[in-house]
This record gives sequence, structure tokens and C-alpha cells, in this order.
Amino acid sequence: MPEFKLADRIASLPPYLFAEIDRLKSEVAAQGVDIISLGIGDPDLPTPQFIIDALYEAAKRPENHQYPSYVGMLTFREAVAKWYKQRFNVDLDPKKEVVSLIGSKEGIAHFPLAFVNPGDLVLVASPNYPVYPVASSFAGGEVKMIPLLDENDFLPDLDAVDAATWDKTKVFFINYPNNPTAATATPEFFAKVVEIAHKHNVIIVQDAAYTEVYYDENKKPISILETPGAKEVAIEFHSLSKTYNMTGWRCGMAVGNATLVAGLGKVKENVDSGIFQAVQEAGIVALQHGEPYVKEFRAIYKERRDVVVEALRKINISCRVPDASIFVWARTPEGYTSSEFVSKLLKETGVVVTPGNGFGDSGEGYFRISLTVDTERLKEAVSRISQL
Ligand SMILES: *Cc1c(COP(=O)(O)O)cnc(C)c1O
Repeated sequence: MPEFKLADRIASLPPYLFAEIDRLKSEVAAQGVDIISLGIGDPDLPTPQFIIDALYEAAKRPENHQYPSYVGMLTFREAVAKWYKQRFNVDLDPKKEVVSLIGSKEGIAHFPLAFVNPGDLVLVASPNYPVYPVASSFAGGEVKMIPLLDENDFLPDLDAVDAATWDKTKVFFINYPNNPTAATATPEFFAKVVEIAHKHNVIIVQDAAYTEVYYDENKKPISILETPGAKEVAIEFHSLSKTYNMTGWRCGMAVGNATLVAGLGKVKENVDSGIFQAVQEAGIVALQHGEPYVKEFRAIYKERRDVVVEALRKINISCRVPDASIFVWARTPEGYTSSEFVSKLLKETGVVVTPGNGFGDSGEGYFRISLTVDTERLKEAVSRISQL
């Protein structure tokens, strides 16, 4: 029998922390317990009907049945540029500073292949979306985590990284509004990141997937590209997934520095063939006419957020009130590690949350609640947590 060994890059992946939870979940469900899953960061609300209708119309047209352009239709890139202008007052050249993505995860995963050589240092603000370090390692990069701490409002302490480390750094991954901590960035923070990037020749990758899920019109999350000088050093990843409840559609974009956008495009040219054009046409319509619907989604998330935060506080579980994202990041009660708390909660109440250490070591001592079930179920979940 031939024997096939996995490549080292796969064999050396960190153990899948959620495997144990998945196993426990099946065990608990098998006992007939009603499981409430607050573990998944995937909107439960459907995509607005007008976007589905646009897909249907576009799917009927034979010209959309052929290979799309790997960088995206110019009309899609123009719609992205126009949306960035309206939303962030950021000017983008749709031909050079925008590339379409088969979901932003695809672009994030491919980006290091364009700019990271084996041995290059990559910094990741952590706890983090797991794709940043994994994709960087796949490209041969050396990954170093910069912890996000409560006392720094979950922003990385840039002064704690010495000049020699910055000099060695090729890419710095940040993500605001942040998954999992729900923290948002300030203009001052982005300004400092951009200043360091200029000084030490560092590529800034900012993941902006949650900028539209905010709770207060006066605290709208910002784009790093609003920062003077950002376009010389940064690429920002964005997506229709969380904004318009379109995670299954696979439609995203990367915008910003033309060299960084072109480098990513070069990888894509060689590995994929772009997004189904009918999806891009529906994406254009979403970007142009989606805002009234997004407003409604925000109101729904806000009600859910308030239910969760209030209930957690009543039972002395400490958390911040998020300004954005679909998550509440809470401290595990005294005496429990993240995994212990999450397992106990699942076994004794059927409520699934995500252990903070699943997002990196600095997530230890926390758990993440996703606001992706309706208010009644959330109330039920929190009432069960309180009985623990
Ligand atoms: C959900 C999410 C994305 C979006 O992924 P898509 O591939 O665009 O669906 C990107 N970054 C983070 C941190 C996320 O949580």
C-alpha cells in the first residue's frame, strides 16, 4: 500500500480547538438537550430579497456563464470605489486600487503568497481570525503575535514592539472592528500604525469585515484608508458577507495600495478565476441600494447585544459593551479556563459559545458569544448561563 504523508505545512497546523467542542455538542445533543449555538460568526438573517432577485436576473444571461475576469468586473470595482467614497470619503481608482475576492477570506489567505518570503517576519494582533497566521505560515513566514489586552482597549501596544522587530517585519495584520474582541480602532491608533509602517517599511493588512455592523450612528467604524499616508502602506480587506448577510455568496474586495492590490491580483491570476459574474452583479446592487436594509439589521443586532450584555452583567460576568461587530467578548468566571468554562456550559446547559483561546493564547480567560440567534433564544441562553 502506498502511504501518503501530509505536507509539513498541514501536519504542523495547531490542533483544531473546536473539534472537542463539536464532539461534546454531538454527545449533548444525542441526550435530547436543546442546543443553542452562539458559537458561529455567521449571520442568521437572510440576504435581502432585492439582492437575490438581482442574482436571478443576472444568472439568466448567457454572458455571465463564462469565466469572469480574475480581478473582477470593472463595474463591480467601480461600485466598490463609489461605496468607499460615500461611506468613508476615500478615493479609490477602480482599475488599480480595487480587486474583487471570492470572499475576503480568499484574499487574506492568498495575500502572503504575494509578499512574504520564507523566513520573513509577520506580526499578527491576537486574539485573531485564524487565517492570518495560518496563511502567513503557508507562505513560509515567521509569525509573531502581539497581544490585544483589555487595558489597552484591545488595540496592540505598538510601543511594546522594539524598532529592530519593526525593521524585520514584512507584514502586520490588524482587524477592526475586531473579531473576536469586538473592539474598534481610533483614528489615532490607525495614524500611529501608518507612521510606523512608513518608518520601518511594513505592509499593513487591515481586515474591515465588520465596519457596517455598528450600534451608534455617532461611532461609525472607520477605514484605515481615511488615515493620511495609509494608501502608501496599507491594503484593506472588506466583504459583503457580514454587511448584507451574504456569507454564502462569496463576494469580497481588497482595496488600497496599488502595488499590494496588484501583487494579490498576481496570485489570483494564477490560482482562481474570479467571482461568478451574476454574484458580482448582485453585489453591485447590494452596494448601491443595501443601506436601508443594513440599518434594520443594525437595530436587530443592537437589541440582541443589549439583552446579552445586560444579562451577563446581572450574573457578574464581565464584558464591554461592543460598539461594533456581531460578538460579545466576555470574561470567563473566576476559577475556569476558557475551555473548562465552555465545556461545562455546554454539558450542563446546552449553550455553545466559543472559547477565547481558540483565537490564540491571548484569548485565554475569555469566551465569545455570537449575536446570531433571535432575541428569545438569546434570552433563553443567558438564563441558562445564569443557572450554571
Ligand atoms: C467573517 C469574517 C471575514 C469575512 O469573510 P468572507 O470570506 O468575506 O466571508 C473576514 N474577516 C473576519 C475577521 C471575519 O470574522
